[in-house]
Amino acid sequence: MPIHKNSIIPLTIESLSSDGSGVAHYEGKAVFVPATAPGDVLNARIVKDMGRYAFGIAEEMLQPSPAHIEPDCPVCKPCGGCCFRHLDYETEARAKQSFVEDAFRRIGGLDTPVLPILPSPLEERYRNKVQFPVGLDANGHMIAGFYAGRTHRIVPCADCKLQPEELNQIAAFVCEFMESHGIAPYQEETHTGLVRHIFLRKGWHSGEILVCLVVNGRKLPHAQELCAALIEQFPAIRSIVLNVNRQKTNVITGLENISLYGPGYIEDTLCGVPVRLGPLSFYQVNTPAAEQLYGVARQFAQLQPGDTLLDLYCGMGTIGLSMAADCRELIGVEIIPEAVESAKLNAAAMGAQNARFFCADAGKAAAKLASEGLRPDVVCLDPPRKGCDEATLNAVIAMGPRRIVMVSCNPATAARDCRYLADRGYTPLRAQPADLFPRTKHCECVIELVKQAD
Ligand code: SAH
Repeated sequence: MPIHKNSIIPLTIESLSSDGSGVAHYEGKAVFVPATAPGDVLNARIVKDMGRYAFGIAEEMLQPSPAHIEPDCPVCKPCGGCCFRHLDYETEARAKQSFVEDAFRRIGGLDTPVLPILPSPLEERYRNKVQFPVGLDANGHMIAGFYAGRTHRIVPCADCKLQPEELNQIAAFVCEFMESHGIAPYQEETHTGLVRHIFLRKGWHSGEILVCLVVNGRKLPHAQELCAALIEQFPAIRSIVLNVNRQKTNVITGLENISLYGPGYIEDTLCGVPVRLGPLSFYQVNTPAAEQLYGVARQFAQLQPGDTLLDLYCGMGTIGLSMAADCRELIGVEIIPEAVESAKLNAAAMGAQNARFFCADAGKAAAKLASEGLRPDVVCLDPPRKGCDEATLNAVIAMGPRRIVMVSCNPATAARDCRYLADRGYTPLRAQPADLFPRTKHCECVIELVKQAD
């Protein structure tokens, strides 16, 4: 039976879906209601009935669940970045545990044991990176904030609790400077104006800050004045960079960086690996939680001193380098040239002479290395959200490593890829979920796979 649009129906929320909504049932039909907690009893207004399931919004809370807390951010709703800000953290962590369990059971059809989730050491201000779009508010004032869910409307956010206050203050300072010096923000509709994003990074251990302004051009008016004002106000700033992005695109950064102040990067460490961070390379945003995650990856790898480790999708090399001392040889493969350059520098800085890095597609590189006779003992896979392609998995299988360690930011594609490997000789022994993104729906996991006896 369809539920009419705008009907008000009583619901009790039972669980959370992996897109962050509460899930209830009404006459056998699943109803998804954002910003609700398991145990909430409420009246919901139906906004869309899709047949087997429907979407609603909370209209009237009758009995909030003990897990439901007051969101401590004034722009939580329109921003939408923190879909779990209304939940106590224990409930959030438990929900993420179940996302991984459900993905393995339902998508993978696997009974892989899922270990208890590792919560993030910090629940707030854990991010080491933020990218604020900039624009004008209705009164023509410069604002930095976040895009409201599924739109390009900027919700101004003075103090986002996901990153250090200092980064929020730098964004506000840059906005004020732009406004007082007549520097225009970029406007997507007309492809005019200059400053598109304020991109900031802060080394977790080092405290060093990188300021990067993404601009639709190659010059910033009053650049030296801005640099001087910024470093006076925020002495932790080590580099200020212009990133050139003149394309009509949703991709935030362009390929060219122009250094305005400092070396163009900051330095930090991850699991003891020295890292050099520019604006372009992928880098885990929650350092202490990533260190936990990589610690588990190292444990699952069980490297022996004579082993060769192949680290596919290696970024700036941190996972492999954190285990380089455990093995004889490390080979990393990554598609972004700047990340590969960083990986080489990181290896040199730590004296890891047994490490080599290639800039290539993971699947193509793995196939080439396999055809050249490379037989790694352990392969580490850390793909982006869409997971590994079959070419990559086939090449890995052809190399016949003893173990595969999969690190994933998407339980659904991890479960799919583990199923593929399980059908071709690799048993997923266990999965360890880890929360790197408190308050948001994202969840990481590491999976230990071993080669079945022939
Ligand atoms: N292991 C790294 C990075 C993981 S994120 C770390 O822990 O920091 C995934 C990485 O895969 C990104 O660096 C991305 O640039 C890279 N990547 C995406 N598609 C790729 C492909 N087809 N081949 C190789 N690398 C790819």
